[in-house]
Amino acid sequence: MKKCLVVDDSKVIRKVACHILETLDFTVAEAEDGSQALEAVQSESPDVVLLDWNMPVMDGMQFLKALGELTLEKRPKVIFCTTENGVEHIREAIDAGADEYIMKPFDRETLQSKLQIVELG
Ligand SMILES: [Mg+2]
Repeated sequence: MKKCLVVDDSKVIRKVACHILETLDFTVAEAEDGSQALEAVQSESPDVVLLDWNMPVMDGMQFLKALGELTLEKRPKVIFCTTENGVEHIREAIDAGADEYIMKPFDRETLQSKLQIVELG
């Protein structure tokens, strides 16, 4: 089974994302900010990270930069989540190492297609 780390400061969004991912046969781990996510990337070795942009403590951009500095055996793919108000962040995130992006709120089909794009479908 592939593993996805869901990173979002919203418990509701984590719950929805985790549920969708489980229906897509993923094992899931959760983190509520970038700092927790950095630890989880090292302890859980996820195949993919679903990354929120706006979070307290460490935001999505800071996480991407810190992830780039880690030495990992297996680098996870990163799909970052943005809203219509945050589309200007897409280029910034891709430049910082994100593989794909998804607009919030997302549904099962959209998430599945993004996972397939990063070759995890
Ligand atoms: Mg957020």
